[in-house]
Amino acid sequence: MKRLNDFEKYLSQKGLKITREREKIVQLFLKSDKHLNVEELYHKVKKIDPQIGYSTVYRTLRLLVKANLAAERHFGDRETRFEPIRKNEHHDHLICIKCGRIIEFENKKIEELQEEVAKRNDFEVVRHRLELYGYCSRCKR
Ligand SMILES: [Zn+2]
Ligand SMILES: [Zn+2]
Repeated sequence: MKRLNDFEKYLSQKGLKITREREKIVQLFLKSDKHLNVEELYHKVKKIDPQIGYSTVYRTLRLLVKANLAAERHFGDRETRFEPIRKNEHHDHLICIKCGRIIEFENKKIEELQEEVAKRNDFEVVRHRLELYGYCSRCKR
């Protein structure tokens, strides 16, 4: 897995060691494309290795964010969620305020319009985040 290598590289640059535990956590995290909070990832990790503690999971996620391999997300509630950053990929989110469902979408037109707005204002966009809040198909009924 290439991103696991990237993470190892980051750790060694910082003088940190890649432990078996960290490796397991990172592998699980990169495999999941959901928007997990620490608790949820911890439960997944515990199933494959009950020895791994909550704080190890937490710290590993923080390291992944610093290494630019994970993005931290806040979707209106107090929860902090994490998702893997895939290179050359970008998506935005629809968030159901009733059941918490998170739907990812990509829309070329919206992306282009944003570029256009920035250009018109002589603005250089580094990153952006678009979140639409409302009711999903199940909840709006
Ligand atoms: Zn819903
Ligand atoms: Zn996402």
